[in-house]
Amino acid sequence: MFERGDYISFANCGLPYHISGRIKERKSLLLQTPERLWTNFRIEVRVRNEVLAIDPRGKLVRARNLTTGDEYTESYDYLVLSPGAYPLIPPIEGSGAAMFMSLYDLPGMDAMIARINDQRVQEAVVIGGGFIGVEIAENLIDRGIKTHLVEMLDQVMTPFDPEMAGIIQARLASGGG
Ligand SMILES: Cc1cc2nc3c(=O)[nH]c(=O)nc-3n(C[C@H](O)[C@H](O)[C@H](O)COP(=O)(O)OP(=O)(O)OC[C@H]3O[C@@H](n4cnc5c(N)ncnc54)[C@H](O)[C@@H]3O)c2cc1C
Repeated sequence: MFERGDYISFANCGLPYHISGRIKERKSLLLQTPERLWTNFRIEVRVRNEVLAIDPRGKLVRARNLTTGDEYTESYDYLVLSPGAYPLIPPIEGSGAAMFMSLYDLPGMDAMIARINDQRVQEAVVIGGGFIGVEIAENLIDRGIKTHLVEMLDQVMTPFDPEMAGIIQARLASGGG
């Protein structure tokens, strides 16, 4: 298993809740480790190894060890692609600025916590009132940060009926997490 980051199997769902401190221990976000996958399943995990190219005919992948910079090939019988996705950031003017952050993984969470602490953030804007936006808003409120949630449609949590979304919206507006 190739993973270009430092971690495998962390609880993305818990990231917003560590920002508020509701999940106290950062380490409790880490579920599986390379060592455990080896011990339990004999899966060899290579963190900080990025797959650069696939050769389906030769059944080879080309990878780079991000620690040493070395490139090498590895053969396979079957290849499973599970590289995940990136957060969709619409072309909003200024969204490349350093102030603009998105929450996607552990390093992103660490950066957000550092920003909040270092700059003593008092007020934040969350763009997008879907599941993750609402969770982030909830947890920023929990930290005592004045939070504005901006949603372009006429309700938050669009998979829900307006009656149910209205309950969430009222709760958010009252400042209750
Ligand atoms: C803040 C947040 C909260 C969430 N809350 C929930 C929730 O409550 N419930 C829920 O069901 N889902 C939730 N999700 C969604 C859930 O985390 C994702 O659906 C899930 O992680 C997708 O798993 P995946 O393995 O497809 O991708 P990922 O978890 O993104 O894993 C893909 C991995 O592939 C690695 N990779 C990519 N390209 C390469 C390459 N070329 N070489 C080597 N490695 C590579 C990446 O570094 C990454 O670690 C949440 C997500 C976020 C960000």
